[in-house]
Amino acid sequence: MNKLVGVVPDQGLEAASSGKLYYGGKWHPSADGGQIQVHNPANLAHLANVEQAGATDLDSAVTAAKAGQGEWKKTKPLHRTQAIREAARRIRENKAELALLDAMDSGNPLKGMAFDVELGATLMEFFAGLATEIKGDTIPSGEGQVNYVTREPVGVVARLVPFNHPLMFACAKIAAPIVAGNAVILKPSEETPLSALRMAELIGDLFPAGVLNVLNGGRELGEAITRHPGIANVSLIGSVNTGKAVMQGAASTLKRMSLELGGKNALIVFPDADVDGAIAGAVKGMNLGWTAGQSCGSTSRVLVHDDHYEALVEGIGEAFEAVRLGDPARADTEMGCLSSRSQFDKVNRYVALAREEGARQVAGGDAGMQGQLANGCFVRPTLFADVTPQMRIAREEVFGPVLSVLKWSDYEEMIETVNGVELGLTASIWTRNLDTALRTVADIHAGYVWVNNSSDHFLGAPFGGVGQSGIGREECLEELLSYTEQKNVNITIAPGR
Ligand code: NAD
Repeated sequence: MNKLVGVVPDQGLEAASSGKLYYGGKWHPSADGGQIQVHNPANLAHLANVEQAGATDLDSAVTAAKAGQGEWKKTKPLHRTQAIREAARRIRENKAELALLDAMDSGNPLKGMAFDVELGATLMEFFAGLATEIKGDTIPSGEGQVNYVTREPVGVVARLVPFNHPLMFACAKIAAPIVAGNAVILKPSEETPLSALRMAELIGDLFPAGVLNVLNGGRELGEAITRHPGIANVSLIGSVNTGKAVMQGAASTLKRMSLELGGKNALIVFPDADVDGAIAGAVKGMNLGWTAGQSCGSTSRVLVHDDHYEALVEGIGEAFEAVRLGDPARADTEMGCLSSRSQFDKVNRYVALAREEGARQVAGGDAGMQGQLANGCFVRPTLFADVTPQMRIAREEVFGPVLSVLKWSDYEEMIETVNGVELGLTASIWTRNLDTALRTVADIHAGYVWVNNSSDHFLGAPFGGVGQSGIGREECLEELLSYTEQKNVNITIAPGR
């Protein structure tokens, strides 16, 4: 096996060998010799070089994928189920190493990345179990006619994924297309490619050559994938701007696509809310211990009724100050760092902007880091109060540990603020009154809503957004079916009768 990196007890990763491109069941060097340098954002140390795919590599991978898919689509659903279940088993078996790879590559803490390994394996098993749900219909068409609908795989599917859950997305996002009988080309983020390559090493042999392919690269490769005529479906998890670029690129060949994009998600606190619960929910909703706030679903706008405004600001502020940042590779670290220098710079620009716009900083910010943390991309949980709906900090996705608190007193105005942004991914409602909860659920624009909870995902529950948060739903049967095309067949049983 082409083992990319080794784990040295107590020290983390040893120097990496080269991470090549995986397609057609083999490891290949990049045709034009392109390389990507991978760094540990906790100390900016060089971790590994991986080979970067160019246009020639992509052509070769698509050719291999088409050949593999031709074989795979003929396999029985039971066989596909068994292969993906075995993949999940191997992923779990290598949990410690995969979690450490992600911690060092992404800056997310080890505990959160161990959870991601479990989640990725669980989602693989979930889709494996749905293999026989790829069902069709029969349509009554009169005597002598049989009319039925069957579902077929679309062909070659490309999955473009971001940096915040490297291994979890690698596992979870290849599962549905493969179970449905497609071949997949996975493009991990150029910031965090290591665990996806290791995943291919661990599970690639479970499928015919060409069914699972992993190509490293950045925006240029993503654009080439989006336009490639041999790819039938391109599904992105990423930012809104990338979503727009993918939609434009996919238009050239009318590809099927799904887009899971950003959020500026609201957490709404009503006068009758459990205040301590809402404080804890607002902190949990930022996913600090999972991704340092770099989660599409993070509830980064807290809209609090006048009655509890100061209590919420004080409570969240205290909880934020108590969060301990540390080396992401350590098991006892509560919160890690941002995934790259560019993420660090972007988040700090928003912190400075919030101050310029007149928001009141209650916790966090740029108070310098001490010791080893001073060399990495660490930003403390940062809380702004007195934020108004017009401020950019209240409207734009920061994608980091920055929470804005807004005050409200009038229900209609509050709903207008919640719905006044272009994004609509998640929302969290805190009230003890069922009428209030259901009225608010109906009034807000969002695809995934919690009442008296935040952050958690539920197996089988459709995840996705409205407005510019994306198109399509994932983590559910609809995701599996989106990698199929319906074919209608009419049989005339007794011609001329
Ligand atoms: P990004 O859009 O920069 O990159 C995502 C992927 O797309 C990467 O693999 C990248 O290389 C590729 N890419 C970049 N430009 C491209 C282009 N022009 N054409 C094709 N591919 C291109 O996103 P990111 O910074 O890695 O991740 C953060 C974003 O992802 C946030 O906006 C976050 O909300 C979103 N996100 C959404 C979900 C969800 O399920 N809705 C989940 C996680 C993250």
